[in-house]
Parts: sequence; C-alpha cells; structure tokens
Amino acid sequence: IQSKLPGVSTTIFSVMSKLAAEYNAINLSQGFPDYSADPKLVELVNKAMKDGFNQYAPMPGNQLLKENIAEKVKNLYNIKYNPDTEITVTAGGTQAIFTALAAIINSGDEVIIFEPAYDSYAPTIRLLGGLVKTYELAPPEYGIDWDMVKKLFTSSTRMIILNSPQNPTGSILSKEDMKSLIKLINGTDILILSDEVYEHLIYDEQEHNSVMLFPELRERSFIVASFGKLLHATGWKLGYCLAPELLTKEFRKVHQFNVFSVNSAMQQAIAQYIQEPSNYMEIGSFFQQKRDYFRSLLAESRFKLLPCHGSYFQCVSYSEISEEKDTDFSTRLIKEFGVASIPVSAFYQKATDHKIIRFCFAKEDATLALAAEKLKNV
Ligand code: PMP
Ligand code: GLN
Repeated sequence: IQSKLPGVSTTIFSVMSKLAAEYNAINLSQGFPDYSADPKLVELVNKAMKDGFNQYAPMPGNQLLKENIAEKVKNLYNIKYNPDTEITVTAGGTQAIFTALAAIINSGDEVIIFEPAYDSYAPTIRLLGGLVKTYELAPPEYGIDWDMVKKLFTSSTRMIILNSPQNPTGSILSKEDMKSLIKLINGTDILILSDEVYEHLIYDEQEHNSVMLFPELRERSFIVASFGKLLHATGWKLGYCLAPELLTKEFRKVHQFNVFSVNSAMQQAIAQYIQEPSNYMEIGSFFQQKRDYFRSLLAESRFKLLPCHGSYFQCVSYSEISEEKDTDFSTRLIKEFGVASIPVSAFYQKATDHKIIRFCFAKEDATLALAAEKLKNV
C-alpha cells in the first residue's frame, strides 16, 4: 500500500519509554507522573461505575462535566463558555487536536506551527492533505518574532497552532505576543488552535495568557485542555475543547464519527471532583517545586539548563559533554547511565542538531534525586 504518512515512524514517546523499560532506566522521557492520581478521584470513578455510568455518555460529553468545566473556566478566566454549544469532552488533548484540524483543514490548506512542536501536529495536518508551514523557534528562549510569522502567510493560510506553556521548551506566550498575533490576523479569516494542556503549569508568578482572554482571538479559536495533566492521570485520556458555537458545531460533526463519546464513569467522577477548586488549584506550585528541585540537582551536573517557564519539561544542552546527535546521545544515556530522556530533534520535521534533550520532572522527588545522581556521572 501507499503510505499516507511516509517518513513517519513510531512516536518518540513510545520508543523511549520502551527502551527505558528494556534497560530498566529511570524514565524521564514520556511526559507522565510516576505517582498516583488522588485516591479520592479514583474512589469517585468506582462510585460512578457502581452508580451505573457504564454506557455511552452523551456525544458532546457528560452534562454535569460540561457545566463544571464552564464553571472552572469562568472562575479562572472570567469568560463564559456555554456547556451546551461551546464545550466538547474529548479523549484527551490529542483527539481534540486531531478533531479540530479534521473539522477545518481541506486539501491544500496551510497551517503554521512553531517548532520544536508536539509531535502530533504536523502528521495530522499532512494526513488531512494540509501543508505544514514552520516557524523555527531559536534556543534558548524560543521566542517568536511575529513579523517573521507574517512572512509565512499566504492566501491558503487556514490556521495557526499555538502551544503555551510549550512542549518541549517550557516557553510561554506573553501579553505582547498575543497583541502582536491579534494585529497579524486582523482582517484575515485565519483560525487558531490553541493547545493549552499545560495551562496550570506556569511558574514564577507568570499569568497564563489564554487566547480566550482576547475577544479577537477567542472568536476564532479552538482551545484544547487535558485532564491527564490537570489530574495526574494521563492514562485516562480525557480532555476537552472550547470553541465558539459555529466552530464547535463543525468540531462535533467530526467528533461524533471519530470517537462519538468518551469514558462515561470517568467523566462523571471528574465532574464531581473539579467542582472543588482546591482539588486542582495547587498544581502550579506543586510542579514549580519539582522544577526548582530538579534544576537545583542538575546544576551540579555538566548539563546546561535551558529556561523553563512552564510545562513539566526541562530541556538541557549537552554540547559541552558530547558531539553526538541527540538521538544517539539519549539512547546512550539510557544504556550507559540508566536515565531516559527525549531528543528534542524529534519535535522538528527537518533534521536539527541543537544538542538538546528533554527531561520530564513530573516525578516523585526520590525519582528525580536518583536520576540526578546518575546524570552527575555523565
Ligand atoms: N498537547 C501537548 C503539548 C502535549 O504535551 C500533550 C501530551 N501530554 C497533548 C497535547 C496530548 O494530551 P493528552 O494526553 O490529553 O492527549
Ligand atoms: N505529551 C507527552 C509528552 O510530551 C506524551 C504524549 C504521548 O505519549 N503521546 O511526553
């Protein structure tokens, strides 16, 4: 058969996690916590199953969950999304991204992404016949020069994908960024897909500049969120998409045929759990402590720390340690030193050689300490 995605192989997250298991290495590669979700939340799932939430949930999502998402969003950002027409519960952020793109992108449409970028964006765009236009962010700050973004615009530009806080760089978009973006798209019909799965993981008293806070952006944006990040439960694969009614209508046309609806017991449990803001409001400071702890440990190694303003990822440069390509280096790190990371070249479509790898610090302090001990020997 002729592959629809030539050149695409198994995602780096599966590759590195598998290798980590094979060599019994500490897995700081794929982004997921090594500790359990809150037992209270797990109990609520059990209860939901006993209460009969075992059949199809409504196509756009459990009603109470949509209402409580609306309430959470209103409390956090003072913006109202209508649970009936503007909120859809999805199988994690990944399905929301896929569905939003599938609902909008036609053959030949161009989508602008910022690389390094989460690895699902480009293949999804290409699968739909779209063309990927890449803006390359420069280390160590990975900031955006919006005049250069404008140079990527053509009459076929259909969408821009934002991701703040960003995976893998931990960079964040400022108010100035958002204002520049507003100016740029003014008078165009370009839509925005704003991947905000790390909205709460933002550090040093910085505010999260969600696109929803800017009416000129909100009216043309799909916003993607993930309960995997919010609730330390990445394996549950639950998230949601916020979008104005017209966009949500198109989103749901696709959603109903690529998944129809998602896990009903977990939706019911999450609905009850997020009713209490104290169940998630501390997550930012929780991860800031982990970031600070991990950085302080790595400061004693030969790795050079890049900035980390958000997300649960810490990028480091190993240029003073080795000349190897990052894929070779991170493979050797597993085999010889027992620590798994992600080579940042995996977040680019073209070949790059920045000598940067990414560690996930969503781990028990003891795990981070053990990993750092090993990394100090590198
Ligand atoms: N976007 C980004 C930037 C991510 O890092 C991830 C993975 N954690 C996702 C989307 C997908 O989220 P989920 O696991 O909920 O599908
Ligand atoms: N988002 C996670 C990461 O960047 C992993 C997602 C996945 O495994 N697909 O590590």
